[in-house]
Amino acid sequence: MASTLVGKQAVVIGAGMGGLTAAGALADFFDQVVVLERDTLPSEPAHRAGTPQARHVHALLLSGQRALSELFAGFEQDLARAGAVPLRVGLDVRMERPGYDPFPQRDLGWFSYAVSRPTIECAVRRRVESRANITLRQHCRVEKLLASPNGETVSDVRYENDNGASETIATDLVVDASGSGALTLDLLQSIGRPLPEETTIGIDLGYATCVFAIPDDAPTDWKGVMTFGQAPHNSRGGLMLPLEGNRWMATIGGRHGDVPSGDAEGFLTYAQALRTPTIYNAICHAERLGGVARYGFRESVRRHFERLDEFPRGLLPIADAICRFNPIYGQGMSVAAQEACLLQTLLGRLAGDNNPIAALAPTFFAEVQTLIETPWAVATFDFVFPETRGQRPADFETALKFGIALTRLAAEDPAVHKLTAEVQNLLRPRSAYRDPTLVQRVIAIMAES
Ligand SMILES: Cc1cc2nc3c(=O)[nH]c(=O)nc-3n(C[C@H](O)[C@H](O)[C@H](O)COP(=O)(O)OP(=O)(O)OC[C@H]3O[C@@H](n4cnc5c(N)ncnc54)[C@H](O)[C@@H]3O)c2cc1C
Repeated sequence: MASTLVGKQAVVIGAGMGGLTAAGALADFFDQVVVLERDTLPSEPAHRAGTPQARHVHALLLSGQRALSELFAGFEQDLARAGAVPLRVGLDVRMERPGYDPFPQRDLGWFSYAVSRPTIECAVRRRVESRANITLRQHCRVEKLLASPNGETVSDVRYENDNGASETIATDLVVDASGSGALTLDLLQSIGRPLPEETTIGIDLGYATCVFAIPDDAPTDWKGVMTFGQAPHNSRGGLMLPLEGNRWMATIGGRHGDVPSGDAEGFLTYAQALRTPTIYNAICHAERLGGVARYGFRESVRRHFERLDEFPRGLLPIADAICRFNPIYGQGMSVAAQEACLLQTLLGRLAGDNNPIAALAPTFFAEVQTLIETPWAVATFDFVFPETRGQRPADFETALKFGIALTRLAAEDPAVHKLTAEVQNLLRPRSAYRDPTLVQRVIAIMAES
């Protein structure tokens, strides 16, 4: 325990990736951290109702892996012990993009881990459970956040307990990691404060996922495959990654109505119509383990809490409650873990102040923008599809041409390939692409084409 405490008790709403990582960050700065989760929390990796997305491929980016190891030293070994499959970044996942089938496969020098979302979450949960001052309370559905009469401070959390009875818990800080952030918005409304402005990008994504036993005659030149459609005419894509237990998880999907059906036959038919046959050829004779899971994702949402003039003391929304990213880029868990690291850093910095909790939310909202900027900028490429709803950036055409030329350069030059992998894995900001020498080289390619 650190010697500088910020408060007696913190309450975290939700034991998903945002809530668990936030609890890990808070534990050094509060006497007690209580996590309230509406679901039953399984002792082994298993699906649960509150995180339906966990039935689909969940890629953990290198930034997320590092952030989790920063919060929980040795976390990568936890994943390895849980059966996660090590992947050499740049080499083991066959990337199929129009014009590059496949994109050059090179070992870029890092390992990432492919593993199911329930196993990642279970590994984080075990770390959190091992902290003496964190309590995980399952079957506790938070109903309302309660503020002081003048609305300036959030003081209590009301929840429905195991027996269906209402209970109230007093707290110095509430972290809303419920995914939806609805409780934060309800609180703002109840005290007559404005809601944050939202930027949305409407993509109407439809996902379907199946798990297969990896057959003995599986291809040996890749461990996973990512297939992109030919935008803007074809939005269909697929990602198949290995999982613990010698399995593949294949997620396929498209946009604006061109989405897979929920039956096994429809799944294979859709897979067969992907731009390349790689995924279909791999799974068509493989043993399917379980049914088809589906998920609809309407829009990416960024809530601009940083633009609010005032915000109640003692409340902090985090992870998806602030920003929900298009899942195809695999960013949400990694950004959640990075945000928990930021929370830990800020608490350390503010701990000596007179009123650290008052300064926490405004400082967090200001500084988290740097974390969100790069993954959100990736999502704006969704405007390549004309049906995408939202404010298309004014320089979109130029950004798109720049991206296409940069991809060509990355295919030719391993150093540029490595740089793009660093940005995609959120290890470096997108501003790395503004390097003058790189810009000159990209512009030369744009001019050629
Ligand atoms: C289809 C799909 C695929 C995805 N793929 C990836 C991927 O490949 N890689 C990646 O990094 N991210 C991916 N994501 C995003 C990732 O799942 C989220 O960004 C991440 O889980 C965010 O964590 P969170 O804590 O905000 O929300 P969640 O992890 O969803 O957790 C919210 C928790 O709050 C609980 N809760 C909600 N309301 C209450 C309440 N009132 N009281 C108590 N508990 C409550 C819920 O039960 C749940 O446990 C994907 C998302 C989707 C939809």
